[in-house]
Amino acid sequence: MTGNHVVVYKGPGEVAVEGIDYPKLELPQEVAESFGLDKQAPHAAILKIVTTNICGSDQHMVRGRTTAPVGQTLGHEITGEIVETGNDVLFHKVGDICSVPFNIACGRCRMCAEGKTGICLNVNPARPGAAYGYVDMGGWIGGQAEYVMVPFADFNLLRFPDRDQALEKILDLTMLSDIFPTGYHGAYTAGVTTGSTVYVAGAGPVGLAAAHAAQLLGAAVVIVGDLIPERLEQARSFGCETVDLTKSGELPDMIEDLVGEPVVDAAVDAVGFEARGHGKDAGEQPATVLNDVMTITRAGASLGIPGLYVTGDPGGVDDNAKIGQLGVRIGLGWAKSHRFTTGQCPVKQYNRLLMNLILNDKAQIAKAVNATKIKLDEAPNGYKDFDRGAAKKFVLDPHSMVPA
Ligand code: NAD
Ligand code: ZN
Ligand code: ZN
Repeated sequence: MTGNHVVVYKGPGEVAVEGIDYPKLELPQEVAESFGLDKQAPHAAILKIVTTNICGSDQHMVRGRTTAPVGQTLGHEITGEIVETGNDVLFHKVGDICSVPFNIACGRCRMCAEGKTGICLNVNPARPGAAYGYVDMGGWIGGQAEYVMVPFADFNLLRFPDRDQALEKILDLTMLSDIFPTGYHGAYTAGVTTGSTVYVAGAGPVGLAAAHAAQLLGAAVVIVGDLIPERLEQARSFGCETVDLTKSGELPDMIEDLVGEPVVDAAVDAVGFEARGHGKDAGEQPATVLNDVMTITRAGASLGIPGLYVTGDPGGVDDNAKIGQLGVRIGLGWAKSHRFTTGQCPVKQYNRLLMNLILNDKAQIAKAVNATKIKLDEAPNGYKDFDRGAAKKFVLDPHSMVPA
């Protein structure tokens, strides 16, 4: 008998919903062994999942562009109701509805103490930082599921103050597990402030979240670039300017047409290593966006780079790309004294404050990313539509708890 269902990677282009065991209050074997810890995890909680979103980061795995093995469980954007707690969970209770940061963090190491929860030292033998349902991220079971185990629950969980209000605003709150903080991190680390002109590369959910975050930070103009018309239309729906990179012409000229000069104050890469070149039939050119953001950002600017870059890509365009070595024109960034912020977004640095914006109707993130609810068993179609470039952020609703 299986007590849980989870989305599983079945090979390039394919996912399925499969039965697995109901979660236990236990660490993954590899984590327990490597850090000399007891497998029992009294600091953990089991959550009944209220919502769990499909992410562009999942797509890298599902497209076969990472070393994810067949059978990898998926899902790191989790919101859930606590149904069980270990003896050492002191401050969260059964019945609480909580957002789960996609970064798994111990709350006890040097990085966690500095708030750098994306590079916790105690949760992944392979490297600093871990996540649910992700290759090379510690072997934690994915949360595109009915139930999930969350370790170090007191540290990781963000409780919503009121259950009814949480369910009413759930399509906004579900974005706190990843893309709203990630988009905000992109804009914030790019130095966006009152009056900034901003370019966001990518009109996927992270790019749209970065664009909305830039508006919240007071940007004067937010320009979003992509090659997919529906996604650009979605960006315009909430007040962004757009550039269509399939059109002929140079990006600096397109920027100049919009802001009167060929540079902006701040830029965000919300695309990552699967970037396409410019033009109608452009193929993949993994360094395109990194070079774009250096080209069109003024001297002295900061660049927010939430877009993902990998150290191993079996589908890379050449031998260099296969090991994550890209044709980045670093001399240009150096000459302009640019600063770069890369890596996993440390969700805990932002999620509580962004929750406050949502609960007080000051942020409309669900509308910005076109949050679209589907059932857990519709996940395979959701993955396909998302991969085709649908201007939607798919939210799985495994227990039909999202109000109509
Ligand atoms: P997505 O795949 O839906 O969106 C990427 C968009 O970029 C697509 O719409 C694509 O058409 C567009 N694009 C391709 N080449 C482009 C170019 N040259 N210029 C402009 N746009 C271009 O993915 P998403 O869910 O929006 O995520 C975006 C990136 O952020 C992914 O790499 C994802 O892995 C990463 N991510 C990082 C973090 C983090 O913590 N750093 C968290 C979440 C997601
Ligand atoms: Zn994600
Ligand atoms: Zn830690």
